[in-house]
Amino acid sequence: MAHPLIEQAKRIAVLSGAGISAESGIATFRGKDGLWKNYRPEELATPQAFDRNPELVWEWYAMRLNIVLSAKPNQAHYLLANLEKEKDLTLVTQNVDRLHHRAGSANVLELHGNISHSRCLQCGHLSLLEKDFSYPPLCKVCGGRTRPNVVWFGETLPISVFQKSIQAFESCDLALIIGTSAVVEPAASLARLAKNKGAKVIEINPQTTSLSHLSDLSIRAGAAKGLQELLNN
Ligand code: NAD
Ligand code: ZN
Repeated sequence: MAHPLIEQAKRIAVLSGAGISAESGIATFRGKDGLWKNYRPEELATPQAFDRNPELVWEWYAMRLNIVLSAKPNQAHYLLANLEKEKDLTLVTQNVDRLHHRAGSANVLELHGNISHSRCLQCGHLSLLEKDFSYPPLCKVCGGRTRPNVVWFGETLPISVFQKSIQAFESCDLALIIGTSAVVEPAASLARLAKNKGAKVIEINPQTTSLSHLSDLSIRAGAAKGLQELLNN
């Protein structure tokens, strides 16, 4: 038997953050492995950094893509993919690593885009990036300059993805917040939106976050163990 809050839920909205992929060996930004060549992610994941030094930013993304392609989804990703088969579930993720897709989740909204593709600055075409791609990659359609297909600090979220995420959290009766510090918006607002509409909120995070006080249940554990506990698998 799963936890009663899961059993009773008719519509679940999940928000996942970097913490759910930590057990796949992918560092969170704010964890101890967040630094690269002494740069903080906030110094690399911005439009200004890309304007200043596109080579450097591409080098960082090439390194991160290689890590992601060598990594595998963990049990937390698989448990959510299975839960989607049993429940009406929308999975909103801040992650750019595609591990939810690789675990089999279908109903995924990527709030921050993904690092698996480059986006053409001229024609908008998305080109799939391969392991060890040479950077800067050019558009496969028009040969134009490209950028990583992610949302950088200071940029607006893709509007339709954001609207669908709001809809999912407004209409759910259970919000499940996993592995996000909820420092980067709209994580905190989505959870609040659900709470204000009367939904139950469950958080899985080894640490206290700004959402802990509004959660009906806080599971202080890693994502895989926490989800296992919740779903009693
Ligand atoms: P964050 O780095 O701010 O926070 C990570 C959270 O995960 C923390 O609250 C931490 O306590 C928790 N955590 C650590 N280990 C965990 C575990 N095993 N199980 C569950 N939780 C665990 O990450 P964020 O809030 O997602 O925001 C950073 C932004 O950086 C994201 O928006 C994302 O776009 C990007 N990012 C993505 C990836 C990825 O795709 N895997 C990795 C790093 C950063
Ligand atoms: Zn192009």
